[in-house]
Amino acid sequence: MVKAACSDARQRKTWVVVAHSTGTLRIDVRGLSALNHACVGCPDTRRCCCATYEVCVTRAEMRRIVGCLSVVSKFCRHLAGRHGFDNVFDPVDSGLFAIDTDADGLCCFAYRVQGRIRCSLHSAALSLGIPVSVVKPRVCMLWPLALGDGNPASLSVQPDAFAFRCNTRRKVRHDLCGSLAETVKSTFGTQVLQRIESALAGHSGSGDGEHLA
Ligand code: SF4
Repeated sequence: MVKAACSDARQRKTWVVVAHSTGTLRIDVRGLSALNHACVGCPDTRRCCCATYEVCVTRAEMRRIVGCLSVVSKFCRHLAGRHGFDNVFDPVDSGLFAIDTDADGLCCFAYRVQGRIRCSLHSAALSLGIPVSVVKPRVCMLWPLALGDGNPASLSVQPDAFAFRCNTRRKVRHDLCGSLAETVKSTFGTQVLQRIESALAGHSGSGDGEHLA
């Protein structure tokens, strides 16, 4: 449910607070609408999101990944050692686990196919016929969006998003680009996507009267 909206002209953000099935989000709807994202796989590790960030997962995410390693390792042969799978998770603060990288900083779950860098967790999920979100870390599902801390949590565009070739600017419209719409829908549900587009259109689907400045 959309509950409120305010705008920050200096940062060109327009925040809308949306409740969904598992919590509440404060969403920069204008920022999301102004982003066009299309991932076709990077040709190399320069300006590649899989070689830029330290990706951390929760214990539950780690367990789900480990449960699929036999399929994941078909795409990433380097994961299979002589006596089983190598441990590629390093404990960090707050009960999270960082995924190992290679010498170029590339995530150990990345692999190359037809000259493009791809995610073996994504490929394994498709191969298994299960939702990608079951295996792929949430931060990777969301990128180039960022889920911030706070109450409510914020959903916005990563500050460095436009440093990557897969992200370009577009005029703010009454919708999100196709891939971001799919990301929001698969992560937070159809209703949240509808609320965002309703807010962008200047209408309240719920009658709550949200309005974008
Ligand atoms: S888990 Fe997949 S999407 Fe995330 S950084 Fe590693 S290869 Fe990239």
